[in-house]
Parts: sequence; C-alpha cells; structure tokens
Amino acid sequence: MTFALELTEAQAAIHEAIAKICAKYDDHYWLKVDDSGNFPDAFVNDIAAGGWLGVAMPERFGGAGLGLTEAALMMQAVAQSGAGFSGASAIHLNIFGLMPIVKFGTEGQQERFLPPIIAGDDKACFAVTEPNSGLDTASLETRAERTNSGYRINGRKIWTTNAQRANKIMLIARTTPKDQCRKPTEGLSLFYADFDRAKIEAQPIPKMGRKAVECNTLFIEDLEVSNAELIGEEGAGFKMLLSGLNPERILFAVEAIGLGRVALKRAAQYAKERIVFGRPIGQNQGIQHPLAKAWAELEAASLMAYKAAALYDAGKECGAEANASKYLGAEAGFRACEASVLAHGGMGYAKEYFVERYFREAMLARIAPVSREMILNFIAERVLGLPKSY
Ligand SMILES: Cc1cc2nc3c(=O)[nH]c(=O)nc-3n(C[C@H](O)[C@H](O)[C@H](O)COP(=O)(O)OP(=O)(O)OC[C@H]3O[C@@H](n4cnc5c(N)ncnc54)[C@H](O)[C@@H]3O)c2cc1C
Repeated sequence: MTFALELTEAQAAIHEAIAKICAKYDDHYWLKVDDSGNFPDAFVNDIAAGGWLGVAMPERFGGAGLGLTEAALMMQAVAQSGAGFSGASAIHLNIFGLMPIVKFGTEGQQERFLPPIIAGDDKACFAVTEPNSGLDTASLETRAERTNSGYRINGRKIWTTNAQRANKIMLIARTTPKDQCRKPTEGLSLFYADFDRAKIEAQPIPKMGRKAVECNTLFIEDLEVSNAELIGEEGAGFKMLLSGLNPERILFAVEAIGLGRVALKRAAQYAKERIVFGRPIGQNQGIQHPLAKAWAELEAASLMAYKAAALYDAGKECGAEANASKYLGAEAGFRACEASVLAHGGMGYAKEYFVERYFREAMLARIAPVSREMILNFIAERVLGLPKSY
C-alpha cells in the first residue's frame, strides 16, 4: 500500500469537477433549503447527471469503479463548497450505503438494485438505529418472522434519514431471538426492500440542523418482504453491517473536515475585512490563533482520513485509522466551525454570514453514525488492549 501525500492528477480532477458542480449552489441556496426544509433536488440531480453517485460502485452496473479515496475526495469537496452536511447527507447513502449488496448480494440482486441507485432513480434509506437499543445494535427489537414466501417485519426505527422520500429501505432486523443465539450479534438479518408506505409510517423528527435532509421515526407494521430481498445469509446481518462501517466513518470524517475548511475560509476572510479599534480583527493573535489551530487540526485529521481510505482501498485492515479519522475529523470540523462563529462576533450568530449553519451541522458528525465515546471505547480496547468497558 502506498499512502500518497499528494493527489494524483486524476484525483485532483475529481475535486475540481465536483467543485465546479457545487459552485452553482452557493451559500444562499443552502441557507434557503435549510430554512424551508426543502430537499436539495436540483443539486442532487446535477450530481447524478454527472455520474457521480456511482463513483465507488462497480463499472458493470454503471458505476465508475473507483475507490474509497476518490469517494472521500468527492464528499469532502461537496461539504467544503459550503454545502456542508445539507449537501453531503443528501447523497451520502448512494455513495457507499449499498456496499453490503455489492459485497454480499447475489448477481441478481446486484443487477436489480444497483443501477437505479447509481442513476439516482431509486432513493434509499438505511434503518439501523432503534429507540430502545441505541448504539447497542445487537439489542435491537425489530423482528423479521418467516412466512411462506419470505418474512414479515414488525418494529420501530429512529433517526432514519431520507425516509420521507425513499422508495427503498435497507434495514436490519432480528430473525432469531437473542437468547437462542451463541452470540448477541448473531441472528440479525439485513433486508433491502421496497419502502411500502402502507406498512411503514415515517414521522419526521424536528432537529437542530440539516433541515433539508429529514430524519424520521419509523413504525413498521407487518411489512412483507420476499426471500429475494434478504441480503446475504439469514442471521449474518451484523457481520455485513460491520463491513460498511469503516468506509462510512471515513466519509463522515472528510465531510466534517470539508465543513471545517469552509468555515475557516469564511472566518479568515471576515477577520481580514472587519475593522474594530482601527485595525482588522485578524491582526489580533486572539483571533489568529484559534483559526491557525483549527487549520492544523483539520490538516492532521485529513491525513488520517486518507491514510484510512488508502488502507481500505488496498484491502487492508483499517478499523483503528477509520475510527480515529472519524473522531479527529468530527472534532476538528466542530472546533473550526466554533472558531469561525466566534471570529465573526455577533455576525457569527446571524444567518446571513452562514457560519451558524455550519456550526449546527458540525454537531452531527460528533454524534452519528457512531458517537465519540464508542470510538474511544474501540480504540482503547482494540488498539491499546484495554479491557472492554461495556
Ligand atoms: C441527524 C442524524 C441522522 C441520522 N441518520 C441515521 C440513519 O439514517 N440511520 C440510522 O440507523 N441511524 C441514524 N442516526 C442515528 C445515529 O447513528 C445515532 O444517533 C448514534 O449512533 C447514537 O445512537 P443513540 O442516539 O441511540 O445514542 P445512545 O446509544 O442512546 O447513546 C447516548 C450517549 O451515551 C453514550 N454511550 C452509550 N453507551 C456508552 C458506553 N458504553 N460508553 C460510553 N458512552 C456510551 C453515547 O456515546 C452517547 O453519547 C442519525 C442520527 C442523527 C442525529
């Protein structure tokens, strides 16, 4: 594995191409969708039209067949354009969410499910988190019971992003009761099914930020799915879920880093222009140092994220690096956004300077898809060899 410190020409071209599309959607556009809660359809259609939704999907299904590194460059460029998580989360799931199907689906499932998601025709949501189990996925309560032709699913999910618009749902449910399994992580199965609104009620959750991309509580009642919608082996769902966790963490990391970078850029610009006490506020070290520190932290987090992506692309173990990059990226992104708001003074709190939106969105990466505490638990146990704490 070579871990390049500089982008290749092809990689730099990806960044440029994405930045060019994103330039059509300025901060006013994102502020408007954040206020209205309207999904950024125009932006997503443009990204889909450029073929970018399939950046990391196999070429034989219409994807570009590139690696996680390229997907990360793309998502970082999206967030860094000012789109932040309002833009990144609108396409995030298309990029790597269906990897369990790529890795474990049958040829028939891949042929049916992948091309429409790559083209942007299908809209999927990913339902793992539940109200009563939280981060303890092995304790989830949604049940899939065998029927003659497949399974009947009942249960509740929470925080499911994009469920108002999705026509497909990837969900994990228990097929064997926990007390009948050797390990709690066994007996869970993964399904990719039609989002049947007669059987699934999606209630939006009012939330702090990213209003344009909704989150929902799902009430699933007697959802019938066929055997052809079970991904991989029955009972092996947790293992399949794990295979997608590292890429997802890396993508969240670079999205947070992108958001931090645009916040920093705005702060530096404002600090040069705003005159108080007869000189630019940026001439004061009290303004300079937090911004300089934010730059250093963002760059360090970025190195870790691309190291993790390079390991993943080389087929090597990357759990420690992927987790570390998610932690570092989310923290650096948040601190850059915080420093940017503070450098703007009162205007940091005003919507017209945009950085208050960045700040609200930056919280997301610290919580989802896995919390800071669980990442540190992982590193303490798996890297440092400390006893498992939970
Ligand atoms: C905007 C947004 C979008 C989301 N989108 C999706 C989605 O599309 N699909 C989906 O399935 N989920 C989604 N989620 C859910 C997200 O992944 C979870 O919120 C996250 O994993 C945390 O789970 P929880 O909220 O249940 O926290 P809890 O499990 O209730 O934990 C609460 C707090 O306790 C801490 N904690 C718990 N156990 C331990 C321990 N053993 N040691 C130390 N600390 C601990 C946690 O770190 C956390 O800080 C989304 C969440 C948000 C906010």
